[in-house]
Amino acid sequence: MLDFVTLEADLDEEERLIRDTAREFVADRVKPDIGEHFENGTFPTDLIPLMGKLGFYAPNLEGYGSPNVSETAYGLLMQELEAGDSGLRSMASVQGALVMYPIHAYGSEAQKEEWLPKLGEGEAVGCFGLTEPEHGSDPASMETTAEADGDGYVLNGSKTWITNSPIADVALVWARDTSSKDAPVRGFLVETDRDGVTTNKLEEKLSMRASITGEIGLNNVSVPESNVLPDVSGMKGPLSCLTQARYGIAWGAVGAARDCFETARAYALEREQFGGPIARFQLQQEKLAEMATQITLAQLLAYRLATLKERGDLRPQHVSMAKRNNVRMAREQSRVAREMLGGNGITTDYSPMRHLANMETVYTYEGTHDIHTLVLGDELTGIQAYE
Ligand code: FAD
Repeated sequence: MLDFVTLEADLDEEERLIRDTAREFVADRVKPDIGEHFENGTFPTDLIPLMGKLGFYAPNLEGYGSPNVSETAYGLLMQELEAGDSGLRSMASVQGALVMYPIHAYGSEAQKEEWLPKLGEGEAVGCFGLTEPEHGSDPASMETTAEADGDGYVLNGSKTWITNSPIADVALVWARDTSSKDAPVRGFLVETDRDGVTTNKLEEKLSMRASITGEIGLNNVSVPESNVLPDVSGMKGPLSCLTQARYGIAWGAVGAARDCFETARAYALEREQFGGPIARFQLQQEKLAEMATQITLAQLLAYRLATLKERGDLRPQHVSMAKRNNVRMAREQSRVAREMLGGNGITTDYSPMRHLANMETVYTYEGTHDIHTLVLGDELTGIQAYE
């Protein structure tokens, strides 16, 4: 596996174990039929509890069954899962960074005890409802409301593009609390079997097909006060979760690109044209050289982020740069790999076209490439260009 500047030589034992466990899981349980899942628009749901058993959901959290592994180990896990498919990494990202993390950071003791072990073991599935039909890049304009009613709230609104909503047991819904001054955004744990909740599946995707995506309809849904995340109010809630998930994406994109590189390299060495392997042509070697270089640069950024996160110095702007760069890199390099495979490159028999299609989603979700550009523009000039 491509590790050109031997970054993995510095891994400790636990980090190696997690990398190897995830790599083996992907090779044995994912790769054989992920192409078929992609074609059929299905997610291998039978793997959800197994992924829990292997400790793939938020192992970087502490307590409630989570082992508090290093941020490098967590990053490596995301990298290996996305080398399988972005749908798999999305499953782990949503469950871990977007549902377990906020419960861990902002939840009550009862919420933590109720949900973290179940979600960690994959006995329950969570989803994260922020995006609305009319509010994607600008979620602060959300229209979903939570109105105080007796000793609880009544929620109304709709969320869309929600990973795993059709199979989720619980949705973390971000809504405006209209009973408080300035109607702050707050997080509500909404069990999906409550009256008034609907979770239709979105079927028309041409990207991220091996992942289940849906809507969340909320029609006068009552939840008790005990379902509100008590320790966060305002956009800091959802945005801090997104920083966690984007950190994993910055690593994951490297895995997808690496899998494309390895596939293209193997193919070029094997495929013969004009009396020998196409790998002997300088044009093909240039492509491999550029891919390996871009992947290595992205790896370096991901490893540096882990160091910053570990010592508490990671800022959302760092994550914006890495998400923006590494996903663009994976999107561009998966196209080059696809090209190197000729006609075979457009089939599901090989991974590059699937990764390329997935990267269109990854480029767009968790802050579009444009929005991260504007975050960096703001950081570098002090002038915010997106309000
Ligand atoms: P828009 O915000 O309408 O953007 C359209 C275009 O305009 C983009 O190119 C964008 O970059 C550009 N644009 C917008 N504003 C500006 C600006 N100020 N300056 C310059 N250009 C701008 N959301 C969730 O809450 N939970 C999930 O689990 C989830 N999973 C997803 C899974 C998939 C498969 C997909 C595709 C999306 C998912 N999303 C999820 C939603 C995702 O986060 C949004 O699609 C994303 O934030 C973009 O919003 P939008 O699609 O409404 O695009």
